[in-house]
Amino acid sequence: MSKRNKQTKWKKLSSVSIPVTQLSQPERFRKSMKTFGIVLGAAMVSILIPVFHFVLVPALVIASVAAAVRQYNKVYLFDMSQVKCPQCQEDLKESLITAKENKISIYCFNCRRTLSVGV
Ligand SMILES: [Zn+2]
Repeated sequence: MSKRNKQTKWKKLSSVSIPVTQLSQPERFRKSMKTFGIVLGAAMVSILIPVFHFVLVPALVIASVAAAVRQYNKVYLFDMSQVKCPQCQEDLKESLITAKENKISIYCFNCRRTLSVGV
C-alpha cells in the first residue's frame, strides 16, 4: 500500500488552462535587451568587489549575452496574475512568465503540487 502512495505522489499533475500570448519579434528583442541590461548592470556593480571582480566581471559579461539570447528564444508569454491553483485555490506566486514552449510546469508552494499550465 505504501508503495502505491509513493508512485502516485509525483504523477498527480493538474492542468490549468490559460490564454498564452505569442510574443512578436520586437517584443522578444525588447525583453532580451532588458535581461541583457540587468545582468550587465550586475557586472558593473561587481567591478567594485575587490579580487572577485577578476572572475565576476568577465563571467557576468558573458552571462549577460547568454541570458539575452535565451530570453530572445522564449516565444510564449504566460499571464499568471489571475490564475489560482485548481487544488487549493491559492494564488500562484508567479505573475508573468516567458517560456520556449506553450506549456509549462508551475509548482504550487501551498499544496506542494506541480501544475501543468498552458493552452
Ligand atoms: Zn495549490
